[in-house]
Amino acid sequence: MAKPKVGLYWAASCGGCEIAVLDIAEHILDLAAAVDIVFWPVAIDIKYKDVEAMEDESIDLCLFNGAVRTSENEHMAKLLRQKSKVLVAYGSCAAEGCIPGLANQFSRDEVFDYVYDKTPSTVNPEGIRPQTTFKVKEGDLRLPAFFDTVKTLDQVVKVDYYVPGCPPIAEQTWAVLEAVLKGELPAPGSVVGAGTTSLCEECERERKEKKIKKFYRPHEIVTDPEECLLDQGVICCGVATRMGCGAQCPAVNMPCRGCYGPPEGVIDQGAKLISVLGSVIDSKDSDEIANVCATVFDPLGTAYRFGVANSILRRSKLK
Ligand code: SF4
Ligand code: SF4
Repeated sequence: MAKPKVGLYWAASCGGCEIAVLDIAEHILDLAAAVDIVFWPVAIDIKYKDVEAMEDESIDLCLFNGAVRTSENEHMAKLLRQKSKVLVAYGSCAAEGCIPGLANQFSRDEVFDYVYDKTPSTVNPEGIRPQTTFKVKEGDLRLPAFFDTVKTLDQVVKVDYYVPGCPPIAEQTWAVLEAVLKGELPAPGSVVGAGTTSLCEECERERKEKKIKKFYRPHEIVTDPEECLLDQGVICCGVATRMGCGAQCPAVNMPCRGCYGPPEGVIDQGAKLISVLGSVIDSKDSDEIANVCATVFDPLGTAYRFGVANSILRRSKLK
C-alpha cells in the first residue's frame, strides 16, 4: 500500500515550527517509516516547480507554518492548498499571524523606513529599498512583493485544521500526524491537539480574589511560586489563552504570553485579556484606574502579541 504523502512548508515565521517538528524525537523514525515526505524545503532538495507538477490533492497532509507576508507566501499557500487533501495551519504564525503580525501596526513603507534606514546598525546613505524586479545582463532578477498587511493562512485559503502554539509542543505535532495516519481526524475546522477552555484550567497555581493596584513586568517583582501570577499583578494571559501546553510558562514562574491563541468561543484574544484586566483593578476612582492602567507596558504587544492579524481589527488604519 502506498504511504501517505506529507508536505511541510515555512512561510513568514522564525523557523521554530520547523524545529518543533523535529522535537517529536524518536517518533521521527516512525514518521519516516510511515509516510513519504514529498515537500520540505528546509530538509529536502525540492523546487517549487516540482510541487507545481504534482497532481491536485496528491499530498495527503500539509503542515503549513508561517504567516502570509509576501507574494511568495501567498503563492505557496494557494499552490499547497490545491495540491493537498488536508491543509493544517501549523503554529501560531499560520493560525494567528503571531509575531510577524505585530507589524500590522505599520505600513510597508514604515517597516522599510525602519529596517533599511533607522535601525542603529543600518548604513544605507542611498536609501536603497528592495525591488520586485532588477535588471542584470543575464536577465531580470525578481523578489517577492512585501505586502502592507500580514495575513493568517485562513485569510488566504481554506484551512482544514489548526495546531496552535509558538511553537506547538511535540506531543501535539505527533498527535496530528498520528491522527492523519490512522484516519482519525476530527471535524474540519477544528483546533487539533489542544483543549477548549482557558490555560488557567491546567495551571497548578492557587487562585484567590484579584485586587490589582499595579501591574508588573516579570522582572519588577519577586513572585510567590504557588500563587496565581495575575493575582500578584503580573499580566498572565492564561485567562485568555487556550489550554494545551500544560501551562508550561507559569510552571517555571513566567507569565503566559498567549501563544496558544484564544480559547473556544473567544473571537478576539486581546479584547478578552483587556476585559479581564479591567475587571481586576481594585479601585472605583477613575484617576486611580487610569494610573493602574498606565502600568501596563506595551498594551498592544501584551494583549495581542500573537493575535493582531487574527483580531477583529487585523491591522491599524492605513494612511
Ligand atoms: Fe491562570 Fe496565569 Fe494565574 Fe495560572 S498564573 S491561574 S495561567 S492567570
Ligand atoms: Fe504559550 Fe502560554 Fe503555554 Fe507559555 S504558557 S507555552 S505562552 S500558551
